[in-house]
Parts: sequence; structure tokens; C-alpha cells
Amino acid sequence: MKSRLSWYREEGIEYWKISPAAPARADERIQEMTDQKESGSYAPTEQTGFVAEAAELFPITSEATPPRTLAEIREEIGDCRRCKLCATRKNIVFGSGSPNARLMFVGEAPGADEDIQGQPFVGRAGQLLTKMIQAMGLSREEVYIANIIKCRPPENRNPQPDEIAACSPFLIKQVETIRPKVICALGTFSAQTLLETQQKISALRGKFHDYHGVKVLPTFHPAYLLRNPNEKKSVWEDLKKIMEELKKEGGQGTGDGGR
Ligand code: URA
Repeated sequence: MKSRLSWYREEGIEYWKISPAAPARADERIQEMTDQKESGSYAPTEQTGFVAEAAELFPITSEATPPRTLAEIREEIGDCRRCKLCATRKNIVFGSGSPNARLMFVGEAPGADEDIQGQPFVGRAGQLLTKMIQAMGLSREEVYIANIIKCRPPENRNPQPDEIAACSPFLIKQVETIRPKVICALGTFSAQTLLETQQKISALRGKFHDYHGVKVLPTFHPAYLLRNPNEKKSVWEDLKKIMEELKKEGGQGTGDGGR
């Protein structure tokens, strides 16, 4: 996926326009992929993982000009009806923080508090995330915080493949616009989705992986830490690795210092 996207970029292609016939085909293919994923028969190749395939199939823009700013991406999302979560959500939780962030956190999905306020990570887990960010010498305003999906699943159930397929193109666009040096994937679901793997968080955490050419370091989700405070030590080790990586790149949390 990485090589494919960087190839597109090298070729000067920053987005692709979908033909008018595409939406129906995209819906069919996404349904097929979703069924396969649910039955365990979806077999991603190196070239086309689920998210990559969904990003190409789903008609996320019909405009001649691709969105270039976070505000434009938000505008493109609009009052989103692309998946069934629109029926139960109160607010779309787009993401918050600096458009120049060098560090991005990606969680799973908004919970009840986030759904009400329209902001990511504002509940108890969010307060712990804020402390983690501050312990790194940064502030929430300097980093960027988003989720794999932007609408709350009912009863906080796991996001479903069709929901991820509909929403992940926008996360990809956010990543492409912000171009952070490091993404910290919070928890199993975020790490497995971004990295398109079924490996456990315990195996993934603490190491750098790749997402669209951006380094990804998975760590435990703050909600998990609230239940397992003994793991705070491990998370701190992970966060220190991120701090080292950001230092290597120069500059602090935001701005263009290290670019
Ligand atoms: N948990 C998440 O994964 N994301 C939020 O925004 C809040 C809680």
C-alpha cells in the first residue's frame, strides 16, 4: 500500500477521480469485501489491503480539486450518510489539534462523551491521553488526535468493516494533509486496522511500523490503561521511543521545524 501510494505521489497523482459508474460498483465490492472480512476469507495482498482497496473504491470526491486542507476534508465529509452510524450518532468527531502536527494519535472510535461534544478523546480515557501527551512535553493543541472512524458505534461496539471502509479514506486524507512524522496507534483496533494485521497489540506495540509512508508506533489504549494501570510503564517506554524519533527529525511537537 505504501509503495503504491508513494508511486502515485511520485507520478504527481494526489487523488483519483471516480467514474460516475463507480459508486454502484464500489458499494458492491465493499459489500463483498465486508462479507469476506466477516467470514475470514478476505485475503489482502501486499498491493491491496482492505483499507487501500476501500480507499480506491469509495467515491470520496467528485470535485475537480482534491481537498488540501483539513477544513476542506471536513467540508467534503459534510453531514455524512455514507454508513449506518449516521442514524445513531449525535456528532461527527472529525479530529482536533494542529494541522502541522508532527505527532498524530489515532484511536478507535468516539465514545459517548466524544459523540456529545464532537471532539475526540474528551472522556476519562481522553483525560489520560491528555496526561500522556503532557508527559511527552507536548500539548493537545500541538499534536493531532483522530480516530479510525468518526461516528460513535451504538453501545461502543467495535466498528464494522463497511463503516471502516466508508470512513478510512478521510483518515488517509487527514494523514496525507498533516503528514505527521509519527502516528501513535492507540489500542488493538487502531493498530490492527492501520497496519492491516491481526497481530495482537502486545506483539505490535513498542515497535515502529509503516502506514502510508508514516512511522506508526502502536501502544495500549488509554481506556485499557484505566483498567490496567500496571501497563502505564510499558506505554511510557513506547512514548519515549516516539519522543526520540521526533527528536531525530528535529524540532518539537509542531510546526515545520523538522520538515
Ligand atoms: N476512545 C477512542 O478510541 N476514541 C475516542 O475518541 C475516545 C475514546
